[in-house]
Amino acid sequence: MRLITHNMLQCHVKNCNDNNFPLRLEEVEVELVEADFQADFLRNILGKLEWEALVNTAVQVGNTSLPATIPDNAADNEEFLKVLHNALLETHIQSGNMVCPNCQHVYPVKDGIPNMLLAEHEI
Ligand SMILES: [Zn+2]
Repeated sequence: MRLITHNMLQCHVKNCNDNNFPLRLEEVEVELVEADFQADFLRNILGKLEWEALVNTAVQVGNTSLPATIPDNAADNEEFLKVLHNALLETHIQSGNMVCPNCQHVYPVKDGIPNMLLAEHEI
């Protein structure tokens, strides 16, 4: 699971509607997988990202290269786009747990796949 996916996941346990994002990472195993650099894709996704969550998540997996705020010239800043590319698309969570900051529900990640299924009483 790439960090871009994690940036779009929130807890969906019944009545867990506040403070349910981003899911906290615990005991994760991270793998870097090289991917083609596509500047246009990054420019398009930029406005859709929850930036603060992404920065914090990247730090949790040992990547401290993202700036605290998106630079004003982001779209033309090749250096920034490369750093973003590495964090967002090349950083994979292979295994571990994602924990809801509100209800503490644990979503496991196994073989790179997040399991977002809930038990019947949680739906
Ligand atoms: Zn929750």
